[in-house]
Amino acid sequence: MKSVFLIALLFTNVTYAFSLGELLGYANDASFDKYEQSFVQEAAKHGITGLRKARIYFGETFGKDDVAEGPPGSAVERPTVIVDEKYWNTLSDSSKELLIFHELGHALLHENHQPGIMEHILLKREYYEAHREELLNQFFKNAQP
Ligand SMILES: [Zn+2]
Repeated sequence: MKSVFLIALLFTNVTYAFSLGELLGYANDASFDKYEQSFVQEAAKHGITGLRKARIYFGETFGKDDVAEGPPGSAVERPTVIVDEKYWNTLSDSSKELLIFHELGHALLHENHQPGIMEHILLKREYYEAHREELLNQFFKNAQP
């Protein structure tokens, strides 16, 4: 009984990924899941809950550091982050987290560039790893999703 349910669930997910993904011209990539989940968890630690689900996928970024955001208030469009796959593949695990946190800072927390995680260039991996806790505190402290 349990396995039938699992298969049905799996089938549903696959169908969703193909049909909606093809329709919208993108495919969500599992590469981003753990970083997005970590963002949601860290935000919750700082009292920020009920964040929208972002759409994060590999695509052409035209050399921009940044985000294409859905129109505010739109019921259909979700905040969107596009990541250059070649660049992504050069990053360490902690720099991947930093990149996703930075972009979700724009997309979900409406943050502009400022010192810290929202620095206009990606912080050095060593610096981020050494100061992660205080950087996250600063990042979420004044956030207004
Ligand atoms: Zn940025």
